Amino acid sequence: MPPRAILKITEIFPSIQGEGLRQGEPAIFVRLSGCNLKCSFCDTKYAWKEGRSYTVDQVLGKVIKISQSYPARWVCLTGGEPLQQNIRELVRRLRAKKFKIQVETNGTFYKLLPVDWYTISPKPPRYLSRPEYRKKAKEVKIIVTKGLKFGEIQRLRREFPQEVPILLQPQSNLNWSRRLSLRLLKRALTAGLENIRVTLQLHKIYGLK
Ligand code: SF4
Repeated sequence: MPPRAILKITEIFPSIQGEGLRQGEPAIFVRLSGCNLKCSFCDTKYAWKEGRSYTVDQVLGKVIKISQSYPARWVCLTGGEPLQQNIRELVRRLRAKKFKIQVETNGTFYKLLPVDWYTISPKPPRYLSRPEYRKKAKEVKIIVTKGLKFGEIQRLRREFPQEVPILLQPQSNLNWSRRLSLRLLKRALTAGLENIRVTLQLHKIYGLK
């Protein structure tokens, strides 16, 4: 019998998807622990710690229990960096229960998994992501930090197909970052870049996780 997969998990909770194109949709979040990047602006630093050990059965059990009182169709696997861990069995079991699956990743790891939605969020200083995501990404999310250069937005626009939106997401909804997002949007518009948008973290406005 194969060894039971153990996953390190920070939290599992019901909320709304606050970010990106699917903003506002109910979802159950599984936040996997650990991240390879350790960004200074990270708003989930608590997920860098090791977290609690769960078997796939235990994660699934908790998701199903939440879904009984909060019947969301989507499960979002987030972090930390969820693809640092082996989530294949978890994805398979969630699919078998008919959940739709979103993975939010910084893009530095790639695994061929049958998920419905990849959100790629490349991070400074180099904003690199694995080439497989050029075809797989449904959206590219850039956190608008003080050091974000317009050239990185231009480069990412060239890298990803035009139908994949590039979302400028203000750092933690902060005012200076919202202003900078609008300036970058205007610059993108005048430079002829297609499908660049600004956004906000809706869950924070609602006071949710
Ligand atoms: S990649 Fe995401 S989770 Fe990891 S440190 Fe950066 S912001 Fe935090």
